[in-house]
Amino acid sequence: MANRGMLIVLSGPSGVGKGTVRKAIFDQDDNKFLYSISMTTRKMREGEVDGVDYHFVSKEEFENEISTGGMLEYAKYVDNYYGTPLKYVNKMLDAGQDVFLEIEVQGAMQVREKISDGLFIFLTPPDLMELRQRITGRGTDDSATIDKRMTKAIGEIDMMQNYDYAVVNDEINDAVEKIQTIIKAERWRVKRF
Ligand code: 5GP
Repeated sequence: MANRGMLIVLSGPSGVGKGTVRKAIFDQDDNKFLYSISMTTRKMREGEVDGVDYHFVSKEEFENEISTGGMLEYAKYVDNYYGTPLKYVNKMLDAGQDVFLEIEVQGAMQVREKISDGLFIFLTPPDLMELRQRITGRGTDDSATIDKRMTKAIGEIDMMQNYDYAVVNDEINDAVEKIQTIIKAERWRVKRF
């Protein structure tokens, strides 16, 4: 039987650039991770594709997945559900594939409870003003939503201490290189369990 794959969780406040960093890591592609596509009830943004960026579902469909035990983790984030379907992740890990999740902090902590040997990396903004500018600059949220995302982000930054590593996303290439280094080191770790 193949060795179980590694689960890599990239997390951090909304607007910090997790998606951009994740895409850059996947573009380099010498890692051969599989990306777990999340399920969400949020409306599709312009340029997003169903089944690629997210599986976009209704609130009823999402709640049905929760009640039938179909989610590895989920969170309600600024009025919408987001979550990771369990089946795909387990199947891929069991087949020896490394799986990459890009999720917010409440969900990451649920994963930590269930998959304790995962690698948990926290991406943090250089400062809060910069975070606000990034969320505003994205041009996808109204000002009330931006305020909610900022309030949430301040609480989320406190969660950093529960992660294995923290990387400042100051300059994208730099952050990507640091994350690659962390992942490489993790592969050489002597497992003690
Ligand atoms: P957005 O609406 O900007 O796409 O995502 C909002 C937040 O939800 C981001 O922090 C994003 O990383 C997070 N997120 C995306 N997918 C998941 C998921 O499957 N589970 C959890 N817990 N958070 C997710």
